[in-house]
Formats: sequence, C-alpha cells, structure tokens
Amino acid sequence: MKAIQVLGPGGPDVLKFVDVPTPKAGRGEALVRLAAIGVNFIDVYQRNGTYRVAFPAIPGSEGAGTVEQVGEGAADFRDGDRVAYAGAPGAYAEYACVPAEQLVRIPDAISFQDAAATMLQGMTAHYLCTSTFALQGGNMALIHAGAGGVGLLLTQLAKARGATVITTVSTAEKEALSREAGADHVIRYTDSDFAAEARRISGGRGVDVVYDSVGKTTFEKSLDCLRPRGMLALFGASSGPVPPFDPQTLNAKGSLFLTRPTLAHYIATREELEWRSRDLFGALRRGTLKLRIGQTYPLEHAARAHTDLESRRTTGKLLLIPPLA
Ligand code: NDP
Repeated sequence: MKAIQVLGPGGPDVLKFVDVPTPKAGRGEALVRLAAIGVNFIDVYQRNGTYRVAFPAIPGSEGAGTVEQVGEGAADFRDGDRVAYAGAPGAYAEYACVPAEQLVRIPDAISFQDAAATMLQGMTAHYLCTSTFALQGGNMALIHAGAGGVGLLLTQLAKARGATVITTVSTAEKEALSREAGADHVIRYTDSDFAAEARRISGGRGVDVVYDSVGKTTFEKSLDCLRPRGMLALFGASSGPVPPFDPQTLNAKGSLFLTRPTLAHYIATREELEWRSRDLFGALRRGTLKLRIGQTYPLEHAARAHTDLESRRTTGKLLLIPPLA
C-alpha cells in the first residue's frame, strides 16, 4: 500500500511517500481502508521529536473508511462497516489496523470526510466544555486560536451550552470565521494585550475558564485573564511547550486551577467514546454543529499540509486523501 513514512525526527521533508506492506488485522483489530485521514497538531509534535515515537513510523492517528478485514475477537464489526476513529497510530496510509474498541460506526448521513474531520478535534472540543470545565449559561470562556480546528468546534459547542465566548486569532480572515462560529468577542492577540482585553470585556472580573492550546506564548497571560478560582485548561503547545512553572503562582493569581488534559483520558471507556462521538454526529446531522474543512491534500502531499499547519496559514480541519479513495 501507499503510505507516508518517517525514518527519524525532523522538518516536514522527513515525510516520505513510500510503498509498504499492507498490514493484517491482529487480535481485537479491524483493517480499515481509509477514505479520509485527519491531520492534527500532534502529528507535528511526533514528526519533529517533541513527542517521542519509535521510528520508522507511519504518522497520523485519525481516519474514516471501510472495514475490510476483522481480526479474531473484534466481533462487533463486519466487512463493509463504515467506521471512524481517533488515537490509533499509522493513519497516513491507504490502510490502517485499528483496535476495534477505538472504532465507532459512522451514521449513513455523514460522509467519510466529515467523520474524519470530527473525531479528534471534535471529541477534544466536547470533553473540554462538558467535562474539563463543564460550561453552563452565565459562564465566560476564552478560547485561543479561535479559527483553528479545535477552536471553531469548541466555540460552537461552548455557545450551545450558553456561555459567552471570547476568542483570540491572528488575522482578519480568522476573525471573520471565528465570529461566524459564534464568538461574542474576538481579540487579535498578535496586535493587542489579550489579558487586558479579556479583563475589560468581563467587566474587570476575569473569565471563568481559558482553553489554551497555544502554550508558550500565551500561558502566562492566560492566567491573568481568570477570575479567582478560575481554570486554565492548557491542552496544547502550538507555539511551543510551556517552561517549568511554580505552583505558588496559582495562589498569587487567585487560587487558580491548572489542568493539562489529553483526549485519551476522556475517551478511555467505550461509554465515553460513544457518548462524545454520538453527540457530535447528532449535532452535525441536525446542522447545529458546522464543520469547516479548510483544506484537503492528496496523501503524498502530507509535507505541504504540515508546513501549512505549522506556519499558521490554515483554518479549520486539514485532511489527507489516499490515492484509491
Ligand atoms: P489549529 O488548527 O488550532 O492550528 C494551530 C493554531 O494555533 C494556528 O492556526 C494559530 O492560530 C495558532 N498559533 C499560535 N501561535 C502559533 C505558532 N507559533 N505556531 C503555529 N500555530 C500557532 O490546530 P489543531 O486544532 O489541530 O490543534 C490545536 C491545538 O490543540 C494543538 O496545540 C494540539 O496539539 C492541541 N490538541 C490537544 C488535544 C488534547 O487532548 N490535549 C487534542 C487535540 C488537539 P492563529 O493564527 O489564530 O494564532
């Protein structure tokens, strides 16, 4: 099969389009013929060595397609089932072997591309606003990178839960997209002091929660946006990792809560995985959640997708499409 392979950490040019043997479903696994593959920031961290992976590696952890072979012990699935998943390695390829416990069925009304665009970023947005800090009417949330893949989805879900949403973005185009997704206030954090703006917008009180995926360049000021006993949910590091931190700062800035959540711990049970994916597919079908697929690339152009994502040029979701899809 065709796949993208990485032999060692580096820039986007280490993503090579190669032929490798098609895998076979092992015990508890299904072989999925992929129709659409999600590109996520974690793929960048794994490619450049920020997160350790064993090389050679096929990057990617999200996809949607059709079951072609079912391994022993994966009896819940059949050949021909339309499925999607997030969090299993080796997605930048025509086929991937995925543990059956990580697969969900895609409702008929939802396309492979929409399903692949929903799983990882959608379930992240879902757990952040329903479980990490469960938003409700009257809450005020600040969401960084509001026009990004997670940002656009989280804004819509936060609004649906009745929160007032402030977002940050870097350009006018991104500002327009973020407002379209429902943001009440949009701050250009590249031109202005977002903490001062968030405090002004919240009438000096501070916001209840900051969802921060940007990391290094936003972390400290994100703490300054919060009301006493507010929560910083640091869930990414798009600008780089946050340096070591003194917990006493949380006391000084108002008995704050800091958490560093990750999707795997919020879909660890079948029940949670099905709840989150069902909620998202339901909202898509009803039209209350809108996806923005900012760009699709042929699988062999994975390096271009990474370059675009890292250089802040993209909005919404990026997908790779395998040759035979
Ligand atoms: P995005 O589409 O949000 O892309 C990243 C965005 O971050 C950019 O478009 C840019 O928006 C902003 N940004 C700010 N500074 C930089 C910088 N120096 N370099 C690059 N981008 C920058 O990506 P995703 O939606 O795929 O992921 C968002 C974040 O969420 C990532 O950090 C990812 O790792 C994290 N994540 C965490 C999960 C978890 O469970 N913990 C799960 C899923 C994602 P702008 O131009 O407006 O500033």
